[in-house]
Amino acid sequence: MAEDDSGSNKIRVICRFRPISEKERALVSDKQVCEFPNDNRTVIINQQSENGGILNFNYDYVFTPTSRQEDVYNIAAKPIVEAVMQGFNGTVFAYGQTSSGKTYTMTGSDMYDPEYMGVIPRMVSTVFDKIAFINAKIEFQVKVSYCEIYMEKIKDLLDPRRKNLKIHEDRARGVYIAELYEEYVSSGSEVYTLMKIGTDNREVGSTNMNSKSSRSHSIFILTVTQTNSTDYSAKTGKLYLVDLAGSEKVGKTGAAGKRLEEAKTINKSLTMLGNVITALTDGKSTHVPYRDSKLTRVLQDSLGGNSKTSLIITCSPSPFNEAETVSTLRFGNRAK
Ligand code: ADP
Ligand code: MG
Repeated sequence: MAEDDSGSNKIRVICRFRPISEKERALVSDKQVCEFPNDNRTVIINQQSENGGILNFNYDYVFTPTSRQEDVYNIAAKPIVEAVMQGFNGTVFAYGQTSSGKTYTMTGSDMYDPEYMGVIPRMVSTVFDKIAFINAKIEFQVKVSYCEIYMEKIKDLLDPRRKNLKIHEDRARGVYIAELYEEYVSSGSEVYTLMKIGTDNREVGSTNMNSKSSRSHSIFILTVTQTNSTDYSAKTGKLYLVDLAGSEKVGKTGAAGKRLEEAKTINKSLTMLGNVITALTDGKSTHVPYRDSKLTRVLQDSLGGNSKTSLIITCSPSPFNEAETVSTLRFGNRAK
């Protein structure tokens, strides 16, 4: 694997295909639309749809359906947690249609199982492992917040009475969510308990895609401040871990009424995110449109500048989801 020491504005794009699901097997077959050459960077899509051709996509890394959680962590997240421990900001996103593996990748199917835990618990445990090894002259403070953006409104997932929170900006703190609850934590297991509480407070809705499809963007924030007890110098790194709302297009989910409004809002904010990513990475934009959506505004200080970002795009291998997979792969290409 190549280390990421290129321009700091570069966003690393990592693509992950999950295994075919029972439902897809039953609806179509075992057939897969994707092929993986041996370079770990390419996926080839053999389009089954009418007039379909062969499409070729390249990313910083491509994970096949048999990839392990630890490998995804090492490539997509480890360099970012290391930057945060040096006082930089970082972001990891998971982007993809509902049921493509975003939550599996970010949280994991079992937060306590070393094989199945996802990116967030692995990053958290790395932070506490590193703290245990750093010299005693440095005092650490770790804080956790957890919120979601639903219909362009920010809700606190650790204190759901706090709704419609506002975004503020000042010189000392940069861009931040005002009155967002912050809990001081001193171990991984404390963080996992908070994650569970927050996840249970997420906005979910039943669509035809998935009975527990997430209609909101969830943002898990870990802030690490270290103070040197000799000279009182301090530095802070902020980590944003984002499980985005499903990127599927409206038609397929059979949405109407409230669900249709949700889908339009989600599509719009994902488009805005794509615009920000393009502006940060195309090397020619002079304006980055952070203010066009709550999501990009919240992330303003941890995208671009000195911060490190990974975008993980998650895909289904089944012909049943071919159109969404191609659309996800194209989104991933915007960051190049
Ligand atoms: P999303 O959050 O994108 O809606 P999920 O992460 O909930 O999707 O994944 C949908 C289902 O597929 C879950 O049952 C999950 O356990 C399973 N799954 C997703 N990715 C993988 C993977 N890489 N390996 C094994 N199972 C996976
Ligand atoms: Mg999910």
